[in-house]
Amino acid sequence: MDKKFDELGLTGGLPSSLTVSMRLMDLMRSDRRDVDALVDMLHCDPSLSLRLIKLANQTHSRRPSRVEDVGSALKRVGWDAAETLLMGFSLVRQGAAGGWSDFDHEAYWARAQLTACLCESLSGAAGWSSTQRAHSLGLLADVGTLALANIHRDRFSVIVQDQPEPIAPERVRLETDVLGISHCEVSHAMLEDAGLTYSLRQAVLVHKDYERICDQENDVKTWAALLLASQAAATLYLGRGRGADSSRNQAEDLLAKTTQLLGLSMEQTEEACTEAAQEWTRVREALGLQPEAAKYLKANSASSSPADSSDEDSTGAALRPIRGIVTPSIQLAPVLGNGRWGEAARILLVDDDPLTRRVVGSQLRRAGHEVLVAKDGREGLEMALTLNPQIVITDWTMPGICGVELCELLRATDVGRRLCILMLTSCDDDDDQVISALRAGADDYVTKPSNPRILQARVQAGLRTVHLRERSESMEQTHQGEVAELGILARQLESAALTDPLTQLPNRRYAIQRLEQEWEMASRTGRPMSVIIADVDHFKRVNDRHGHGGGDEVLKVVSSRMRGASRSTDVVCRFGGEEFLTLNPACTGQEALRYAERVRSAVGCKPIRHGAMDCLVTLSLGIAERTPEMKSSDELLLAADRALYTAKAAGRNRCA
Ligand code: GH3
Ligand code: MG
Ligand code: MG
Repeated sequence: MDKKFDELGLTGGLPSSLTVSMRLMDLMRSDRRDVDALVDMLHCDPSLSLRLIKLANQTHSRRPSRVEDVGSALKRVGWDAAETLLMGFSLVRQGAAGGWSDFDHEAYWARAQLTACLCESLSGAAGWSSTQRAHSLGLLADVGTLALANIHRDRFSVIVQDQPEPIAPERVRLETDVLGISHCEVSHAMLEDAGLTYSLRQAVLVHKDYERICDQENDVKTWAALLLASQAAATLYLGRGRGADSSRNQAEDLLAKTTQLLGLSMEQTEEACTEAAQEWTRVREALGLQPEAAKYLKANSASSSPADSSDEDSTGAALRPIRGIVTPSIQLAPVLGNGRWGEAARILLVDDDPLTRRVVGSQLRRAGHEVLVAKDGREGLEMALTLNPQIVITDWTMPGICGVELCELLRATDVGRRLCILMLTSCDDDDDQVISALRAGADDYVTKPSNPRILQARVQAGLRTVHLRERSESMEQTHQGEVAELGILARQLESAALTDPLTQLPNRRYAIQRLEQEWEMASRTGRPMSVIIADVDHFKRVNDRHGHGGGDEVLKVVSSRMRGASRSTDVVCRFGGEEFLTLNPACTGQEALRYAERVRSAVGCKPIRHGAMDCLVTLSLGIAERTPEMKSSDELLLAADRALYTAKAAGRNRCA
């Protein structure tokens, strides 16, 4: 409970799409700073978008307006900072130790992109001016799903199998039952962490539940309706061809109801959806989005036996089984006998020349190594980022991305920094070539034609470098790496499920659990107990006058003043919007009343100042003591609620 929710650093370790990451590297290679292309790219990737928005809100937190869409975030942060941040992407790596679950990342991304396009075009049809915010919100609304999928890998797969439809209310319920937190709650927390305003994150929190949407105030209601409409339309679009089933009917029904809330006619809705689908297709085509990594995996399992691996010219067949997925892990113990020595490595060989691939490839295999082969720099880059090689041996001159460029690109990424890169150079005495290779980030070089014994010696030296890097990295990770991040996240989710992210007070779920415990204790021991419901007076006016951001600040200050006026035995919880529940074990009604007066004056004694805001808020408090006639804790709560009503009716700023 005492850990701050923002320690989660929720956005760092979540994976991005390989294709988007590759396009990002293309953009880095070119000298043109093509802002539109970068925005297009980010519009396809929730984790990168969220990181950028978070950075924009963090580094410029003094600025009055918050950044809530990718385009504005990029403008505020600037190209260079964005580039550095974005190159820290993580990928779904094939066969990495403790590999990813069978969660379908590609399908998740495709759906998020489509939802984003739908949000944009539906909001445009409804005449909103903030269509870019709508786009980003659509992209980010379900980012909690990605977090849950990557933290609770196995358990989340089971949930998805059981409830594949993301808009089904049963899905949210199942997540809450199994994991103690739903993807909506996680998204909500992540968006708060990234600095999005109340209306947007509240919309994300409630948008999967139509009834709850209708209960919200105007701003939240329309954002949430927009989200649910887009999600429903995405379900209809992506589910096409599966025939009429219950999720289709449900989606149609939700789309009709939510677009009505937005004031859209059937025709307008249809037109906007068609437009969104076209835009989605355009962006995906422009980026060449396909499940790239899957292509290698398929090619790989298609290759019948390791004996095929002598055929280096067909990429598919040359790919040896991928660690941990297709076959058990490769041998890491020393390879002895048969004239072999040293340790087996997983090597990626990048060369456009079939002959070199064949010769060097078989030299490496004969020495006992596992060899992956790429035909050019681009393929090499993709494979290096996703297939987990330890060593990359790359040719110097290749069409497209050459060896030096490959080196530089890999070194710009997190994954690529760990690799050992050996450059193949044409002759030993070309000093310039050797120097440029080392400058570009190569660890060493091998001359062509390669001598098998020297090659093997360089590979072994390279492996030592890799092990050292791995060791230092694993030490670093305890402080900052993605493992640490996800580890904290997993632990924190337990407490996050019970902590209110805004005020850091225990939340309603905790309050109810704890109330049950205290009730039982009091019943058993006959000890007195009291509860108090405290409600901020005229809080709507605070929001109206100072905006939701101001309202949030007020809630934080009220919480900390309440806590300050409490003893360690009093439990102060945020029970709902601007309502707090305190549990006062072992307190009679009289004692609780004195405590309530203390709290009331602590909150209302002086104005709350934050930035330009200066406002005085007061509390009304309803106190109830447990009596032997009460049958359950619900009755105790009801009594406190009635008392609160009395306090409000009597003029507010008082205890009853
Ligand atoms: P009363 O004195 O009768 O309690 O009046 P009130 O306006 O305080 O009561 P009401 O319950 O009608 O309104 C509460 C408002 O609190 C509605 C909602 O907009 C706002 N609210 C709820 N949760 C949050 C929050 O987390 N942040 C902000 N800024 N506003 C919130
Ligand atoms: Mg109120
Ligand atoms: Mg209220």
